[in-house]
Amino acid sequence: MRVGRLLVIVLALAWASLAGATHAADVASIDGVTPEMEMRESARSHAALVAQLGGEYPDRVLQAYIAGIGARLIAAANSDAAAFQFTFTVLDTPGVLAFAQPGGFVYVSRAILALANSEAEVAAVLAHEMGHVILRHGSHRASLLAAFSDRPRREITIAANALNHEQEIAADAISVQILAAAGYDPAAQAQFLKTMDAQLTFEVDVGMRLHPNGETEAQATVAERLALLDAALAGLPLSARSARWYDGRAEHRAAIDNMVFGFRPAQGMVSRSRYVDAATRITFDVPDGYQFRMGNGIAADGPRGALLQIDARRMLAEMEMGDYLRSVVAPDTHFNSVETGYIDGLRAAMANAASGNEAKREYFILGAIRTANDRVMRFHFAQSEPFSEAEVAASRSSIISFRRISAAEAQAWQPVRIHMHAVSTATTLDAVAAQMDMPRGLDWLLRLNDLPPGAILKAGDVVKVVR
Ligand SMILES: [Zn+2]
Repeated sequence: MRVGRLLVIVLALAWASLAGATHAADVASIDGVTPEMEMRESARSHAALVAQLGGEYPDRVLQAYIAGIGARLIAAANSDAAAFQFTFTVLDTPGVLAFAQPGGFVYVSRAILALANSEAEVAAVLAHEMGHVILRHGSHRASLLAAFSDRPRREITIAANALNHEQEIAADAISVQILAAAGYDPAAQAQFLKTMDAQLTFEVDVGMRLHPNGETEAQATVAERLALLDAALAGLPLSARSARWYDGRAEHRAAIDNMVFGFRPAQGMVSRSRYVDAATRITFDVPDGYQFRMGNGIAADGPRGALLQIDARRMLAEMEMGDYLRSVVAPDTHFNSVETGYIDGLRAAMANAASGNEAKREYFILGAIRTANDRVMRFHFAQSEPFSEAEVAASRSSIISFRRISAAEAQAWQPVRIHMHAVSTATTLDAVAAQMDMPRGLDWLLRLNDLPPGAILKAGDVVKVVR
């Protein structure tokens, strides 16, 4: 039983380290690198790293709340944590992100706090990251690198050496010990791992890619981690298991009430059927029935398998806009119609085209708008069946809805936020989701509240909604 043996080793390690009074001596140096050296190195990159990941979430009360949870965990970890100077930072990034830098810098995104359903679950994330620090998992890793790509949607890519499976299991094991010692329900570790796993499955399903770092894993390894966490709970001493765990559900809800969710307007925000980028000051609508994807790049799924993709490109050569559209598609594309004119006062072209052969054909509605001398915004509707008249009209309307917005209008756009919604009479999830001011409202309602599809909410229930 490979799994069983590994568990015993990992738990033995965790217990030994937590019980060890001379632990600080053990961690003094790995290949000559001390925790102090790690701390200094991480401190140097902290500001730039935070800036690249959207900055600190600008809410002192929330930052202090997270720091408070961290302090409770540090006290519980006792001598294990003594060699490190932990700091906890909530990142203002829309993605689901949690990681640690050697020496004690722990980072969580606001999306993590939104997905958690109790303070114990947040504590589980922090304790897991503390585990990586305490076990010196980052000591031999290259620094985390983060970069935003070109506009309009700033993409985040972090080139980090992913932690290996054994390191994740070891961090889980130490996390369970710290949580229990701090009085948090250690089952929260497994609970949040399930939430993250479900979130990842959802993101894969809808084409989102909001997980830019290495703290993600294949499904099989998640199942193994859950099994090990189960065993770890069973392995806690009786005195610990009989304790009354602190869940902090109400405290967590109060802390994240009114917290920003998803992209901010300056990052390229979607609101139901509208895209707004307050930085480049543009907006457009997608047709009825289209749902934005909330990942990198701008895309929306339409009826009958239609996909709309929008991008902004450099346009170097001087070119008539109809010719431009012809030049950027595959050579075998046949144009049924090409029209040129102006959209929002900018030179533009739209085309109805198809490509492929008898066996497999693809149909397109294309649009290109010259937003600057050297920039072009491109709309690309594609589906495998011919566009109906209504679909052609809707696609054209979407392209024509493109317009530039004033600085004042850009400023007026507000990000959507998490709110606590108290249910007054029994209601369906659909009814609550209808009030969510974002695409895929029902999916997000399920994700954010860890609810099964079709659940009925009863009077007195409080759910997290986004609007
Ligand atoms: Zn981890």
